[in-house]
Amino acid sequence: MSLDTFHSEVDPVATGQDMHRLIAELFPICRSITGDGLRHTLRILRTYIPLEMREVPTGTQVFDWTVPKEWNIRDAFVKNSRSERVIDFAKSNLHVVNYSIPVQRRISLSELKEHLYTIPEHPDWIPYRTTYYKESWGFCLSHRQMEGLTEDEYEISIDSTLKDGHLTYGEYFLPGDTQDEILISCHACHPSLCNDNLSGIAVAVSLAKHLASLPRHYSYRFLFIPGTIGAITWLALNEDKLPHIKHGLVLSGVGDDGKLHYKKSRRGNTEIDRAASHVLQHSGTPYELLEFSPYGYDERQYCSPGINLAVGRLSRTPHGTFPEYHTSADNLEFVHPDKLGESLAVCMKILSLLENNGTFVNLSPKCEPQLGKRGLYRMIGGQSEAGLNEMAMLWVLNLSDGSHSLLDIAERSGIRFESVQRAAKALKEQLLLREKFDFVSTAAG
Ligand SMILES: [Zn+2]
Repeated sequence: MSLDTFHSEVDPVATGQDMHRLIAELFPICRSITGDGLRHTLRILRTYIPLEMREVPTGTQVFDWTVPKEWNIRDAFVKNSRSERVIDFAKSNLHVVNYSIPVQRRISLSELKEHLYTIPEHPDWIPYRTTYYKESWGFCLSHRQMEGLTEDEYEISIDSTLKDGHLTYGEYFLPGDTQDEILISCHACHPSLCNDNLSGIAVAVSLAKHLASLPRHYSYRFLFIPGTIGAITWLALNEDKLPHIKHGLVLSGVGDDGKLHYKKSRRGNTEIDRAASHVLQHSGTPYELLEFSPYGYDERQYCSPGINLAVGRLSRTPHGTFPEYHTSADNLEFVHPDKLGESLAVCMKILSLLENNGTFVNLSPKCEPQLGKRGLYRMIGGQSEAGLNEMAMLWVLNLSDGSHSLLDIAERSGIRFESVQRAAKALKEQLLLREKFDFVSTAAG
């Protein structure tokens, strides 16, 4: 198998089910931007791919930010005067505002309510809230559950610690034929939320596992990091690696049943932006292209002006535009094996395009070469997808003057990249084409 044939040889349903199983395995863990939940998650990922776990001490200056104190939690509850746990962290880790400081006291209902968060529009869902950078505490619960709380004296307990420790992240580097790299990044800092965080992790792990067994031109770097502070930390500590990163993808929200969305990099017309657009355009499934904006996931950091990498983002329904976002309804039913499989296949097609996007020179450029005597003209497979596309051959011959990549040719001709690539391969075998360099970026890349 090669990257080119991956999507026809790998069963998207079975792969999707594998990814869904990994999501189910990671779902119960209380992750945060630091702490043992994140470590536990990375250790589980290490049973799938041999990633390195890095620890960065609290207080480390990373550009304009500082690595925060490490947060860990063991238990939390609110008990009524009959000693019943009316809010229980053991039932859902979303019940505690993530990064809550330790608390142990008795309070009235009205004081308790100042620390409660609900979603009145969705009275059965528990919201997800954080307080990373302000020392505070709180509980999240369904609106219905809050309405059931009566006047009473409540016992509050949050058995957490917030102290000097480390920020942990996972990194997996997969060397290729060249030092040029493709970066795949996903956040791994949310507790029991599936589409937001676990879907990106599952697709990234599956990509890494498959790429490891395939021949690769590019080197690949996978990052499993806490959102925002993790990307900032990695970038601040690895500035020397940035010149090698030629393309990158942030993966997030890739498991829901909405259509695929590709968000372009800040530069807007880089090779990966064009590759992703081309793949989606020919995917036969609904999709949308989004222009860059300085809001979203870690593409914000990779595309900050002083970093400015060619990093786009692949998602399905964009975050914040579905009601389940950051609630307990972003659960195991909200992500679908077939959608995970489709997201993985699209990633593989984008990477395959980047891997194969060479630039060629026509060795018989004065008038058309005679294809018939070489067995290339109306001989093989007509216009079918599997066979050689005659129009693709004519386009490749015409535009292979050393200044057009195969992606340039695919875009200009409207023919899908795989057909253009196959035509180039056949022409090269007949010595009508040679590669300009081993590898070049496209004209606009
Ligand atoms: Zn989120």
